[in-house]
Amino acid sequence: QLILGIETSCDETAVAIIKNGREITANVVASQIESHKRFGGVVPEIASRHHVEQITVVIEEALKQANLSFAEIDAVAVTEGPGLVGALLIGVNAAKALAFAHNKPLVPVHHIAGHIYANRLVTELKFPLLALVVSGGHTELVYMKEHGQFEVIGETRDDAAGEAYDKVARTLNLPYPGGPHIDRLAHEGSPTIDLPRAWLEEGSYDFSFSGLKSAVINTVHNAEQRGETIAPENLAASFQESVIDVLVTKTVRAVAEYGVNQILLAGGVAANKGLRAALEKAFSDKADVELVIPPLSLCTDNAAMIAAAGSVMFEKGIRADLSLNAIPGLDIETYNT
Ligand code: ATP
Ligand code: MG
Ligand code: FE
Repeated sequence: QLILGIETSCDETAVAIIKNGREITANVVASQIESHKRFGGVVPEIASRHHVEQITVVIEEALKQANLSFAEIDAVAVTEGPGLVGALLIGVNAAKALAFAHNKPLVPVHHIAGHIYANRLVTELKFPLLALVVSGGHTELVYMKEHGQFEVIGETRDDAAGEAYDKVARTLNLPYPGGPHIDRLAHEGSPTIDLPRAWLEEGSYDFSFSGLKSAVINTVHNAEQRGETIAPENLAASFQESVIDVLVTKTVRAVAEYGVNQILLAGGVAANKGLRAALEKAFSDKADVELVIPPLSLCTDNAAMIAAAGSVMFEKGIRADLSLNAIPGLDIETYNT
């Protein structure tokens, strides 16, 4: 089984081909980071324009990398949402055109289901499992009792973890995307500044990062007003410690309550060295649960993860017709059966 996946939900134009749900045959990512950097974030209009320019080349490159012709592909999987509507539409329309022209099935994929399924490119999934999703737009704990079944047991009430990283980075005058820069700085400093942790109600698996973000911004502004400077590496270390503390504590508690066999890390913030190390430490003495962490290239946006999720959705018989539209606020539980 060969699935061609297309991902254009944000600022990466990506196409990949996955064999039998788990084997990467081609994986091409054209990043637009350089074009958005000078604006300090993703500019939707610019993203759409880049996707239009890149999509055909990236599809051809993926087929070339896999040494396959389109006739050999079994289905086209595409990110239907969530994401930027204009960006998503480029991928959806390219997928529809390919499916129509070559008479192939079209499979809609949820972007976060893709992030979770990046883990199936590392190892076979063992259910029931929990996924800790930490990305630019999402922070959630997702319970899966079987393939393609997603139950959100906790989610952020305000900012996503990645969003908080990017905003804190901006306050420290670091370039976009700020996550990797904060991560690097954090390792050069110590967590000397006391910052809040939003635990929320007893037993809640929800998250909140806007209070922490504001506390960092206030700390910087107050110091500036007093004519003092705060060591950015210590602020980064303190911020990162607060984020990781909450993420890891809630994940450990959820793993115990739900009695899962695996814990998957997913999303762009999964590239964070501090988070990876903290999870490894937290689960090192728990032999009955397997921690899975994807390689860095499969954490941030890519199409291999979309094709991997698409492979499962294809097997489950999930199809879209040519009326498929981009859905910027698509719910991950939409295709549960
Ligand atoms: P979503 O997946 O929710 O739709 P997105 O696709 O924009 O959002 P991703 O590409 O999954 O987000 O992840 C990008 C985010 O990951 C950015 O916020 C970026 O700062 C963050 N990030 C990347 N590397 C690191 C790192 N090492 N530490 C912390 N954050 C990181
Ligand atoms: Mg991105
Ligand atoms: Fe993403």
